[in-house]
Amino acid sequence: MNTKTSEALFARANAVIPGGVNSPVRACSSVGAPPVFITHGDGCNIYSADGDRYIDLIGSWGPLVLGHAHKDVLDAIKETLNQGTSFGAPTSVEVEFAEVLCEALPSVEKVRAVNSGTEATMTAVRLARGFTGRNKLIKIDGGYHGHADFLLVAAGSGAATLGIPGSAGVSEGAAQDTVLVPYNDLPALERVFEEIGDQVAAIIIEPVAGNMGVVPPQDGYLQGIRELTTKHGALFIMDEVMTSFRVAYGCAQGLYDVKPDLTCLGKIVGGGLPLAAFGGRADIMDTLAPVGPVYQAGTLSGNPLAVTAGLKTLDLLRRPQTYERLEELGARLEAGLLAAAASAGIPACINRVGSMQTLFFQDGPVRNYDDAKKSDTERFAKYFRAMRERGIFLPPSQFEAMFLSLAHGDEEVDEIIAAAQESMASL
Ligand SMILES: *Cc1c(COP(=O)(O)O)cnc(C)c1O
Repeated sequence: MNTKTSEALFARANAVIPGGVNSPVRACSSVGAPPVFITHGDGCNIYSADGDRYIDLIGSWGPLVLGHAHKDVLDAIKETLNQGTSFGAPTSVEVEFAEVLCEALPSVEKVRAVNSGTEATMTAVRLARGFTGRNKLIKIDGGYHGHADFLLVAAGSGAATLGIPGSAGVSEGAAQDTVLVPYNDLPALERVFEEIGDQVAAIIIEPVAGNMGVVPPQDGYLQGIRELTTKHGALFIMDEVMTSFRVAYGCAQGLYDVKPDLTCLGKIVGGGLPLAAFGGRADIMDTLAPVGPVYQAGTLSGNPLAVTAGLKTLDLLRRPQTYERLEELGARLEAGLLAAAASAGIPACINRVGSMQTLFFQDGPVRNYDDAKKSDTERFAKYFRAMRERGIFLPPSQFEAMFLSLAHGDEEVDEIIAAAQESMASL
């Protein structure tokens, strides 16, 4: 592929944007390739400023489960657009949006819309602290919950790839109330609760870890967290920003049948526009201003444009066979990629839940972040470049999830697999 125009744009970008990008992982620095600039998308394809077509496995990092530029979503946005984009006053679509979320998630009795997953998790934690009157927060090593200070403690994903343990600029004060435990390790969590259980406001966890690469919860893990938090009077916050409406219409909590106290939603709920939400038990949610003492607000929160895109997306996902189809596509890709690695004699394992999966360059199993870090990231970088050269747009990090959408067909999945066979053979 020719990337001349993208490289020229990247040079311009670097002069005026730190690192040339508005979110670090886009810079592709861990895979040693310049980023490709995108002009437009259509279904499962994206097109570069250089004029090349790529099959996209990023889906804007999760939101685009219907594919790019889905006609019904665009039509809904256009119709709303003509009436204005934001009023800073209540609108009926916000109510409808909240009703749809409460209906999809039995654990969510009340919900508030915000603009990003970061805002959702940041506020859910503030709310948990305000509600319980406690300060400590338990977080998973390698879990990512956006970039609020107290959550940027040994963050995974972008930060891990860049080799930054937490982040400069996060004060010790902000970090010291956050306690880290490994994912899928109930005994470790039990020890923390035994020691400081009466100070713990909440645990925040991705029910399916997605930001250390995909790592599903082991049997009984989420149930164990539910029991421990209840026993110690701490809140269970499920960060479903990535998994919401991705792994099931009832989200991961429906799939694994566990009821958290608070849930963070994002990505797919905004249908590709900036929108996220958090919700949960009514008694906790009513601790928020203007009812209660925990403050949270947002100028553009719940704006009709984003809410309309989200509502239309959720409406289309509610149709029968959606998640069966995503599962089918995911399984097809998984089998093909594993076969490609095996025939090239390359150690690889895949973790997958429905349409989200990660191929780790190692024998596995990958059960937590320490396991994930044993992957051959240099091999991943070569694989990434070989795949991009063949028109496949992978997330540029070993520690990210690939996302399939309903716009991917069997033929495109087979195209990806064929490219993987060639790429693996070239490693
Ligand atoms: C993406 C993500 C976030 C952050 O959402 P933003 O909209 O990028 O702020 C939080 N938690 C999880 C699990 C995510 O995947």
